[in-house]
This record gives sequence, structure tokens and C-alpha cells, in this order.
Amino acid sequence: MMKCPFCGYAESKVVDSRPAPERGGIRRRRECLECGKRYTTYEVIEALQIVVRKRDGSQQPFDRAKLMRSILRACEKRTVKLEQIEHIVDSIESSFQNNFRAEVTSTEIGEEVLRHLRTLDKVAYVRFASVYHQFTDLESFANELRRLSDEQN
Ligand SMILES: [Zn+2]
Repeated sequence: MMKCPFCGYAESKVVDSRPAPERGGIRRRRECLECGKRYTTYEVIEALQIVVRKRDGSQQPFDRAKLMRSILRACEKRTVKLEQIEHIVDSIESSFQNNFRAEVTSTEIGEEVLRHLRTLDKVAYVRFASVYHQFTDLESFANELRRLSDEQN
């Protein structure tokens, strides 16, 4: 357990976490629960390999590049920047890491992506939704489109 460098107190709350790939871990800003001062810790991930459980029950390792590609595809010819897509992938990955989630479902990942795309680009959102929700019929797809356009009005 990391102690506060100012007062030595052992408990702190995390105020910010972000991946620190150059150090192979996570950079956290912590606030001491005793003196209130803030300090930074780097926590090396002991290869917490995230496993993704797919709808059919099969499992595969979380693949950052694959997720990146699927979002890129949805954002094709849109104005979404590469950094914005990277940010989505980063925040999804670090939220699982931070919660020590070793297993996530593909649905959870899809929902997270959608949550981000929704505010970023409606067209990319619908494209991604059509893949992830696997709209089985045109009606559910049309309903989703209607819901989106209602929101915009
Ligand atoms: Zn302190």
C-alpha cells in the first residue's frame, strides 16, 4: 500500500487514472485522506489479461487493435479524429483495468463504445449500433434511427 509522501498516511482516494503505456501500467492521481494533498503513483499491471466473452459463450483475449478497427470502420468518412477514437478505446480499457475486471462481455464493450459515439457522431453511432446490436430486422433499425432523430429535435 502506497503511503502519502507528505504525511505517511496509508489511505487515499483515486482522483484520476489513466493508462501509462510507456511505464507499462496505470498512472493514478491520489488524494491523501488525512492531509488532502495530492500525489501520483504508477501501478504496473501484472498482466491483467482481459478476456472477452462473446454472445455465443466463446472467449478471446481483449484485442485493442480489433476494437480500434471496428470503431474506425464506423467512423469512415466522418469527421471523428483518430485521437478521439483512441481516447474511446483507452477509456474503455482503463475502466476495466481500474475495476480489475478480468472478464467482460462483448456486449458491455459495445455499449461503452456506443455511449461515446452517441455524443461524438450520430452516423458513426448508428453504423456501430447496427453491427453491435445486430439489428435482426429493419424495424428495430428504423426504431433506433427514429429515436435518434427525436432526440435531435
Ligand atoms: Zn497525507
